[in-house]
Amino acid sequence: MASIFTKIINGEIPCYKIAEDDRHFAFLDINPVAAGHTLVVPKHEVSYLFDLDDDEYVSLELFAKKVAKAIEQVIPCKRIAEAVIGLEVPHAHIHLIPINSEGDMDFRHKQQLSVEEMKTIAEKISAAVK
Ligand code: 5GP
Repeated sequence: MASIFTKIINGEIPCYKIAEDDRHFAFLDINPVAAGHTLVVPKHEVSYLFDLDDDEYVSLELFAKKVAKAIEQVIPCKRIAEAVIGLEVPHAHIHLIPINSEGDMDFRHKQQLSVEEMKTIAEKISAAVK
């Protein structure tokens, strides 16, 4: 069965899309740890990030770097943190999270942003992707 992220990539489930190319897709996390929290995924469905082959892994990281640079331009923050968890969704993904301190990376405390806020953030980050 297709993962929830494959369904998002295929447009069967809506998302706040940030960017895509032929091999990768980026969209806002629906339950963000911080405003601008973005998930970067390979279109090829592999369960776990560290099971990607080397080429897929490096290529995903390079795509994540482009997205991180765009988030940086839109969300005031000191750094874009990267996390790999993968306990909930068995489709390899990288979390990109704007942070000002270590405490901003607390996955136990998710935020609820309005549809309008999510839309606006996604549009701004998307426009900043080069
Ligand atoms: P992990 O697998 O890394 O533990 O967590 C998966 C992440 O995907 C969580 O942060 C969760 O909020 C996010 N997520 C789960 N389902 C959806 C969804 O349907 N849409 C979006 N945009 N994010 C999701």
